[in-house]
Amino acid sequence: MLQRRKFLELSSIGLSAITFSGFTSKSGNPAGKKPIVISTWAEGLNANKAAWAVLKNGGRAIDAVEQGVMVTENSQNCCVGLGANPDRDGYVTLDACIMDEFSNCGSVAFLERIKHPISVARRVMEKTPHVMLVGSGAQQFAVAEGFPLESEKLSPDAERSYKKWLEKSEYKPVINIENSGNNLKSQSAFAPNKLENGDWNHDTIGMVALDANGNLSGSCTTSGMGFKMRGRLGDSPIIGAGLFVDNEIGAATATGQGEDVIRICGSHLVVELMRMGNSPEQACKKAVERIIKIKGDKARDIQVGFIAINKRGEYGGYCIQKGFNFAVCTADDSNILVDGKHIL
Ligand code: ASP
Repeated sequence: MLQRRKFLELSSIGLSAITFSGFTSKSGNPAGKKPIVISTWAEGLNANKAAWAVLKNGGRAIDAVEQGVMVTENSQNCCVGLGANPDRDGYVTLDACIMDEFSNCGSVAFLERIKHPISVARRVMEKTPHVMLVGSGAQQFAVAEGFPLESEKLSPDAERSYKKWLEKSEYKPVINIENSGNNLKSQSAFAPNKLENGDWNHDTIGMVALDANGNLSGSCTTSGMGFKMRGRLGDSPIIGAGLFVDNEIGAATATGQGEDVIRICGSHLVVELMRMGNSPEQACKKAVERIIKIKGDKARDIQVGFIAINKRGEYGGYCIQKGFNFAVCTADDSNILVDGKHIL
């Protein structure tokens, strides 16, 4: 079932000189473009617009990926940010991370009552000697940096979903799988990632961008799994798992069952696979295959999707099961939703 292609193993010596020639377009990937921004799921279309406003004016990729996902964090009608589903105790807890072209990175996790975790992550990166702040410490830092403490009240959508979940209070910590038949009947054309019962089927936006100067950056922000155990973190705030950027090679981000992305250091793996000469799509595919190999039959119960761009502006994405999509923007009039290829 898994189609494994032997890929060229390149020596780690003299990488910057040889990795570029190692990129391949044999997979049929679109020709590389610069600038470019890509992001996970249909919400990525709106997020890309904000990122593109920065990129088209020659702005830095790091500003683009922050501005971009802030749109999604802001939306009360979405799965990310304070409007999202709470944990099983009824609190919305947010995770985010960001990484720039110099390998600077910042992250916050288990952050409550702050609207823009991605911007707090950026402050951690820029204003502290650390990479990660969590929980009340992250909140304290955010408030000290001037971020307002928002209300604890759930959004109307989240409150309705939480009440429904409380009826059974079944702890099933599995990310929803679009189109798999577990709980998705159809997707609305207006909110393609919303389930028929009104629930959102995922809780993350990951974005990676290459700016006009050829520099890469990425961001990832999430409320994590809906109705998760209090204190649970997924991959999204973890540099190397939910997001990784190497300005010589490429950038990758992940969505889906965070535990299984962490297990393989997913985004770092995708970038390293690109370093070995794989196209972004091939690299994402091989990372997905590795999860499937580990999970065996249980892979059918989960979803993971990766997206990546390389230094040339070529992009790709791959997922375990049907239903994952990502948004690709290369011009004012070119912001498209692409279906991720899938293995199962
Ligand atoms: N990866 C996120 C997590 O595990 C969830 C998602 O992508 O929907 O927290």
